Amino acid sequence: MKKNLSLYIHIPFCLKKCIYCDFLSFANCSYAQQLQYIDALQQEIKLYKAFADRYVVKTIFIGGGTPSLLDEVFIGNILSVIRNVFEVDRFPEITIEANPGTVKYTNLLAYQSYGINRISIGLQSTNDETLKMLGRIHNMDQFVATFNSARRAGFKNINIDIMSGLPGQTEHTYIETLMKVMEFAPEHISAYSLQVEEGTPLYDDEELVGMIPDEDADRRMYAMTKKVLAANGYERYEFSNYAKAGYECRHNITYWTGGEYIGFGIGAASYFKGERFNNTKDIDKYIAVMQEAQPEIASSPDKFHVYEEVTGQIRENVETIYIDSRIEEFMFLGLRMTRGISRKEFRDRFNKDVYEVYGPVLNKYVDEGFMIVDDESVRLNDRGIDVSNIILSDFILD
Ligand code: SF4
Repeated sequence: MKKNLSLYIHIPFCLKKCIYCDFLSFANCSYAQQLQYIDALQQEIKLYKAFADRYVVKTIFIGGGTPSLLDEVFIGNILSVIRNVFEVDRFPEITIEANPGTVKYTNLLAYQSYGINRISIGLQSTNDETLKMLGRIHNMDQFVATFNSARRAGFKNINIDIMSGLPGQTEHTYIETLMKVMEFAPEHISAYSLQVEEGTPLYDDEELVGMIPDEDADRRMYAMTKKVLAANGYERYEFSNYAKAGYECRHNITYWTGGEYIGFGIGAASYFKGERFNNTKDIDKYIAVMQEAQPEIASSPDKFHVYEEVTGQIRENVETIYIDSRIEEFMFLGLRMTRGISRKEFRDRFNKDVYEVYGPVLNKYVDEGFMIVDDESVRLNDRGIDVSNIILSDFILD
């Protein structure tokens, strides 16, 4: 029987860098470099012909960066190559990230025609001054136009990204963002708290950092998010993700349940054939390796040899995941979801009950009122989610 697989495609181009962003993306890349990168991506996908017949692709996520900056034909080409190499499920979830102001109705129609059925729009805040301060390329009006165009083009599954803990944000202005987002009734909302990452312009801006709400205020905003969204029919199914029934992001659930996935493009992470690894972050190296390998990828009869030889040049941090790490990951990732981990799945994967491995830790956190364990599952309750960093560290095996 074929195994399930998820694919991530990294598009590292943005119009301009937001001040808080430490994602692998570049502003001002030339059209020629974009072309070379897309070509390299397609070569990388073709490398996996060696294994493709053992898998069926269930989800595809085109992220970045700002994938919607690309000419939509490139997106269509990438998906065609995927379909030529892999068997894609009859009902896949295919997501593209889009920033307001970078897509028009016609682009969105083209996405639909390529089979993309989910769009994730980066809004972050509904306040124009905040958007400007963050270095976002759009304002609220552009978001409204993009959202409405997406609906008109036929998207029935839309995510909106918002952020809390922004400089100058108060609980009042955050609630305003939440309430305005509710007016659009998206199917899914990702609500993350701002992280100040070293190396970003925000990190060096003492004045803005000084305007970031303190931890208590951020925790209250987090609690508000759950309350407001629950009242509007959204369930929190992961620490920072909320969905209407049936619209949980299947792609992310693959990550959180330890499923196999391949990341294509620079910096992209994979969990494939028992190994975790990521691709080089060096775009010039990535393009050069793929350009050089192109003739071999196209014609060599020994697909396995070409795969080993080429991926060996772009892969970094390769880690074989042994049993203890697999158990730890299963718990760390699974406990991020409000449904927690399934005890049956734990037994099926590891041939033992979760209590045999984690009995004392589970008893401790159940007794202290942070965790719920029943016959079906092990999960954190709201109190547990608030201090999840501390609790999860107790799931590291000696
Ligand atoms: S649009 Fe997204 S990826 Fe691009 S700079 Fe802003 S936060 Fe980073």
